Parts: sequence; structure tokens; C-alpha cells
Amino acid sequence: RPRALSGIQPTAGSFHLGNYLGAIRQYVALQETHDAFYMVVDLHAITMPQEPADLRANTRLAAAQLLAAGLDPQRCTLFIQSHVPEHAQLGWVMNCLTGFGEASRMTQFKDKSAKQGADRATVGLFTYPILQVADILLYQADSVPVGEDQRQHVELTRDLAERFNSRFGSTFTIPKPHIVKEVAKIYDLQDPTVKMSKSASTPKGLVNLLDDPKVTAKKIKSAVTDTGTEIRFDAADKPGISNLLTIYSTLTGASIADLEKKYEGKGYGALKVDLAEAMVDFVTPFRSRTQEYLDDPETLDSILAEGAEKARTVAAETLAQAYDRIGFLPAK
Ligand code: ATP
Ligand code: MG
Repeated sequence: RPRALSGIQPTAGSFHLGNYLGAIRQYVALQETHDAFYMVVDLHAITMPQEPADLRANTRLAAAQLLAAGLDPQRCTLFIQSHVPEHAQLGWVMNCLTGFGEASRMTQFKDKSAKQGADRATVGLFTYPILQVADILLYQADSVPVGEDQRQHVELTRDLAERFNSRFGSTFTIPKPHIVKEVAKIYDLQDPTVKMSKSASTPKGLVNLLDDPKVTAKKIKSAVTDTGTEIRFDAADKPGISNLLTIYSTLTGASIADLEKKYEGKGYGALKVDLAEAMVDFVTPFRSRTQEYLDDPETLDSILAEGAEKARTVAAETLAQAYDRIGFLPAK
């Protein structure tokens, strides 16, 4: 079986609709075809300041949500990044292979540091894409399910894997991004020109999966739409309505063409009412499944312990090979 690997940050507590449609749905699908490794990336979370108690609670909450979304510990390996020390170890090696200029070209860093104020951004935020390289290469992943915003980091991963392989001999699998075009970028409901994001969206533009369903319905109904009245997919001229069509289509399985036909002659309001209902139908059981996992922390922790053990077996083997190729003296 080919390998898949991806990670998600536990930063905001609730995952949002962009995380779910752009990434988590693909995690669930790839369990069927791949030897899949999924992790909650707490090491990445501390690139921004975190309250210790919140970080701990949000890490559990992230794992609970992944299980609620359909990850099955019988069919994939689910773990917490900091439980597998090899990530930080190979991360250092990758730091030493990356050019400063190369790292400086990462647009996620430019965006996030600009938002924070350049002198408050940490070196960790600057190098986090390089840790991500290690995350992927440790598992010899063939496929990396992510949203569009992560494409550049997977490209960096490919470059560094090739660099290591050509300098030290073939060691790492060269991964490919697994990006589903239609849902690769879900937009903020209040500003459909920017991506929906844990850290950057306005509260009204961000659909959190764990929000009260009433709040979610309200956010959908007050989504910014475009001038005109026609319900038609047109990302350039009608970004607001196109975003809603994408969300609706993916959640319900109806094609965009069918939706355009269904709403012919009807206003934006009709679409929003129906989409709000579909969202409520989706988040209501999702919320209760998440709560069930949280209510049983022993089961959750043992799933994560087992996941970490399986992940470590793979990661340790890859790291040992990389260390050997680099020329580190083995410990006796
Ligand atoms: P932050 O803004 O703090 O980076 P985030 O909202 O991007 O948070 P992450 O944990 O960084 O969340 O991303 C988890 C996964 O969700 C990644 O694969 C990312 O590409 C994907 N993703 C995030 N936002 C969207 C979006 N709006 N549309 C599609 N995929 C997304
Ligand atoms: Mg992100």
C-alpha cells in the first residue's frame, strides 16, 4: 500500500469547515487505499504563543474531532506529533539542508508574520515548513492530503528529499501533494477572497464545526454574496455564491450543475436556507460524537498511545537510516 501522511494544528479548539472539506475528508477517504498516518501537530502549534492548559485541552479536542470525522484507529495511525521525538530530530537535519533564501520564500511565513508584526514572529514560525518536511519524510509518504495553502510546503519537501537523496544516497520517498481542486480553498464567508482560516478569519466568516448549530446557521445565512441574483458558479465574478455552492455540493454530494438548475429563478436566500439546514444536519452528530470521545479520555488516550507506538516504529527506522547516511557516529 502507498503511504499517506498529514497533520492538523490544535490551535483554535474547533476545526473549521475549510479544514474539514479541504483536508479531513481526504484523510478519511485515504484510509481505504493507503497506509495512512495522521497527527495533531502540537509542535507546530507553539510557533504562535499558546496557553499551556489550552494547548493540552485543544490537543485532545483535535484528536476527538478527527475520530468524530471518521478516522478509524483500526485503519489508520492517529497520533500526537510531540509523542514521536523523531520529528524534532529529523527537523534539525532538514534545517541544515535548507537555504535561508529558500525558507524566506515561504508565503505562509510572510502572511503569518505580517499579521503578527514582524518583530514578534518567532524563528519557529520561520522554520515550521522545514519541520513539516521532516514530518512527511519520516513516514516515507507518497501522498500528502492538504489544502492549497500547503502546496508550497510539499514542494519544499520534495526539493529537500531530492537534495538529501542525491547528497547521501537514496533515503527518502519523494511525496506528492494530494489536493482536491474543488475544495482546496474554502473561503471566508464574510470575505470570499481570502481563505477561511483558524488564525485569520473574522468570527462571522469562520464556520467552526463545534459552534452551536444555531450560530452556524446564522453565519451561513449572513454570508456575503455578490451583486445580481443568479445562482451560478463563477469564481471570478461571483466568489461568494461560488463558495457556498462548493460547500453545499461537497456536503450533500449534489453536483454544482444540479444545484444551479435546482435554484434557477430562485434568490440567494433560498440557497442559504437549504445550505444552513445541510450544515446543521452535518455538525449536530459531529458535535455529539466529538463529545463522546471527550467523555471517555481513557479510550482516547489509549488510541493515541497506540498510534504513537506505531508511528515511532516507522519514524525511528527512517531516522536511524538518515543519521547513518549523514555520518553520525552510532551510540554503542
Ligand atoms: P492557520 O491559519 O493557523 O494556519 P488553518 O486554518 O490553516 O490554521 P491548519 O491546521 O494550518 O489550519 O490546516 C490544516 C489543514 O487544513 C491543512 O491541510 C490546510 O491546507 C487545510 N486548510 C486550512 N484552511 C483551509 C481552507 N480554507 N480550505 C481548504 N483547506 C484548508
Ligand atoms: Mg494553516
